[in-house]
Amino acid sequence: MRSLLFFGFLAIYTWALVSYIGDCEIVIVQDCLQKEQQVERNDSAFLIGKHNAHLQLSKDFRVYEFLSKDPEAPEVYPISRELVTAVQFLRDYFDTPIAVNSVWRSHEHNQKVKGAKNSDHLTGFAGDYSFPVKPEIIALIDLEVKLQGKLFQRLLQLGVTSFGIYKGHLHIGTAKRAGAYQYDSFEYNYWSKRNSLSKGKIAC
Ligand SMILES: [Zn+2]
Repeated sequence: MRSLLFFGFLAIYTWALVSYIGDCEIVIVQDCLQKEQQVERNDSAFLIGKHNAHLQLSKDFRVYEFLSKDPEAPEVYPISRELVTAVQFLRDYFDTPIAVNSVWRSHEHNQKVKGAKNSDHLTGFAGDYSFPVKPEIIALIDLEVKLQGKLFQRLLQLGVTSFGIYKGHLHIGTAKRAGAYQYDSFEYNYWSKRNSLSKGKIAC
């Protein structure tokens, strides 16, 4: 009887111990994963660079896709979090791959590519994208912007404040300047090199 009790107690103790260790291991692994996978960020931007190029920024995009092609780029620079959200939204909405052509630029690099002097690329708050499998999507977005359609409004809700429609790519920006860009007031910046409705000659 005593040995039965002893083995019974031992069995319960062993089970409890294994369960406890098991829980710890799971917690530790999850903690490690979270730390491992997290891209450092502040309120409005992810801080990216070659050091975290392999990390996931959103469901379909990794940091390396957003890295500057400028060989003189600093080790770390910001890219707008809303910009990543918006491009992931477009990725899901059209269910097609999106190529990220240019996001953050240094002043020197911006001059070389003839970007606007106050380009939102300088702060990492603008991105140029193309749709390699379905390039016609750019014309669709162009129409959406002109008609202020549902897709356009959804993008504004996500924080997009400027659109640029170009022959081979789409420029979207998420910079907020002195209250000029607000979803409710539908004030936004839009320019195009594809049609006569161009609102200026601003280079992206
Ligand atoms: Zn641009």
